[in-house]
Amino acid sequence: MTGHLTTVAGVPVDTRHWIGGERVASAETFTDVSPIDGGVLGEIARGTAAEAHAAVAAAKAAFPGWAATPRAERARLLHAVADGVERRLEDLAVVETADNGALLRSHRRGVMPRVAHNFRFFADWLLTLDHEDFDTRGHTNHVSWDPAGPCVLITPWNAPLMLATWKIAPALAAGNTVVLKPAEWTPMTASLLADIAAEAGLPAGVFNVVQGLGSEIGDALTSHPDVRRISFTGSVPTAKHIAASAAAQLTPLSLELGGKSPLLVFADADLDLAVELAVEQYDNAGQVCLAATRLLVEESVAEEFTRRLVEKAAQLAQGDPRDLSTDIGPNIHERQLEKIDGFVQRAIAAGARAVIGGHRLAGRFYAPTLLADVAQDSEIVQEEVFGPVLTLQTFRDEAEAVRLANDTRFGLAATLATGSRERAERVTGQLVAGTVWVNCFFVRDLQAPFGGSRHSGVGREGGTWSFDFYCDLKNTVTAPKGWQENG
Ligand code: NAD
Repeated sequence: MTGHLTTVAGVPVDTRHWIGGERVASAETFTDVSPIDGGVLGEIARGTAAEAHAAVAAAKAAFPGWAATPRAERARLLHAVADGVERRLEDLAVVETADNGALLRSHRRGVMPRVAHNFRFFADWLLTLDHEDFDTRGHTNHVSWDPAGPCVLITPWNAPLMLATWKIAPALAAGNTVVLKPAEWTPMTASLLADIAAEAGLPAGVFNVVQGLGSEIGDALTSHPDVRRISFTGSVPTAKHIAASAAAQLTPLSLELGGKSPLLVFADADLDLAVELAVEQYDNAGQVCLAATRLLVEESVAEEFTRRLVEKAAQLAQGDPRDLSTDIGPNIHERQLEKIDGFVQRAIAAGARAVIGGHRLAGRFYAPTLLADVAQDSEIVQEEVFGPVLTLQTFRDEAEAVRLANDTRFGLAATLATGSRERAERVTGQLVAGTVWVNCFFVRDLQAPFGGSRHSGVGREGGTWSFDFYCDLKNTVTAPKGWQENG
């Protein structure tokens, strides 16, 4: 670490904010540590209201120019950002792994290529964005997608750059300017993205990054009168706080929140596939909003399903996420581990049985856990743990399966394993969920709407839905008469 530069996994990263095309320091810093070994990665600028205001002012100043930039030129610049992401893919992958502990092999093969794709997708979608004019008694209706203004984007630590770019790319494509506030446990790749955006030629102030701790900087962003959109991914309590803060200015919000999604396994399912789907829920050490953490299994196959699941889970390699043979890395933070273990120990005290796991391991690891004998109204079934902890419940028939599946305050996703197409259609129609996967998991296309119902979120993003959110739609009605013939 020298001055404002730190080195993460051999990659230099600037630890200051990026405001108006310049690096800006704060009077104070906070420490970012790696979940892999607890080592210090850097001292990060600890933003306050002053930096929040400066960033929004920069975004506001840059907005008219960016909004007026022709779509084709905006799209070209976003493709240039994608090119930069691809050029620096290895840097981004190793830095993200050091910072959040997720698997290096996933970052290299899946996540960072998708980060680049996020920019390409929304750049291309922008060019197709249209609405056919229509006629009302000879009057022409023309719908236009006007940029809304400066957007505040607030993101969590479980998939930092992936989730941030799901928001940044459509917001910029729409002609808005952006202030990104990444999570304080994973500030690094956002800083690298600022470098990449500048190299790609994004004008100063179009993309800004501020670092800081939760509401210490967040409140000044979310209550700011010049902010036209807030898109937040994170937890329900923070979302409520942000919604209250944004209410003062009636700033439109998109909220992507937590989940307690079910995996429904019917007796007619391919049981090996169902077990594979269940084991996938331990990915990213269970730190996945969409994870189907409630296994609901038809009674007649529950014993066999559990036997095969236990066998498969025992084969998972837990360890250093930089090792390419590792399946499960560490959990993000000591605080998160304490939270996970608190949930598990309270469940066990209330009568749950740990079929596997149920305890911490050395370092920042938690044993993949499966808890049986859990009551539907218990905390472990109702609350999001955000760790490698699954619960197992059985059902007798379809109606009971649907009732259990829908009986939480969340509605983010649901996964079904069944051999019957008719059943899949019937059950899907009754589930409360933003996404339903049938005999698959985590297949995500940016064209599709994404979001949650109930406490899992407000609004949908993806494809046209993203532009719906990030644009001010305008309908212009023009009369056939009234033109000066020679004018
Ligand atoms: P969190 O709510 O604690 O923090 C998220 C972000 O909000 C961080 O950047 C944090 O600094 C910021 N923040 C905190 N207080 C703030 C305030 N008062 N004003 C403005 N910003 C503030 O969530 P987390 O622990 O980082 O993330 C885990 C949660 O995110 C889980 O609930 C998970 O399910 C959810 N999540 C949802 C999705 C989705 O797409 N639905 C995706 C990933 C994660």
